[in-house]
Amino acid sequence: MKVINVAIDGPAGAGKSTISRKAAAELGFIYIDTGALYRTVGLNALRKGADINDPQSVIATLTDELKVELRFIDGEQRMFLCGEDVSDKIRTPEVSSAASKTSAVPEVRKFLFDLQKQLAKENNCIMDGRDIGTVVLPDADVKIFLTATPEARAERRYKELKEKGMDVKYEDVLSDMIKRDYDDSHRAIAPLKQADDAVLADTSDIDLQQSIDLIIKIIKDRI
Ligand code: C5P
Repeated sequence: MKVINVAIDGPAGAGKSTISRKAAAELGFIYIDTGALYRTVGLNALRKGADINDPQSVIATLTDELKVELRFIDGEQRMFLCGEDVSDKIRTPEVSSAASKTSAVPEVRKFLFDLQKQLAKENNCIMDGRDIGTVVLPDADVKIFLTATPEARAERRYKELKEKGMDVKYEDVLSDMIKRDYDDSHRAIAPLKQADDAVLADTSDIDLQQSIDLIIKIIKDRI
């Protein structure tokens, strides 16, 4: 039976993971968060004491012993690093920064490419990331580029962090967002860009539920 693959790409803070997870649940697809794969490789590099700014040092951590696995437990994606569940440990700011740097190393992308391809081959899925529609699944049945203005994304991230009790300033969240956008879209390998055949979904002026409904409609109209 042919599987259905949906690729959702877009900048940090566009709500990709929340929207993709809910849309996948509604459609009975699995949701694959590829950022978590890059975060796991970043965590491993940190644990191995690699110099994150030195590609050769990062490449040295991609050994035969490195096992990055994605398992579904009660329908939720969990990340395993050499058998250890690291799903929560990959969510720290330190790992975010390591993932952002190590993901720019071509060998890291190559290391995770086959795993992503295989998962998509075997499952009806929504896969989200930065280069899914352009590089990983160029033949995806549906491609969506999910975005919002930097101000709207920073506002949401700011509220989230505040709710977690963190002492942050909106201006800092916004400048961090703009910097991440720049880095993600200007890197030499797999830069963030909308695939020519992707549908643009801008969520700047709509709320979460409206964004989920919009994505489900785009997918249903095309499959
Ligand atoms: O999406 P998330 O913030 O969890 O991703 C962590 C890091 O991994 C990001 O900095 C992003 O640049 C990188 N990434 C990537 N390609 C993907 C998914 C994430 O380079 N497909």
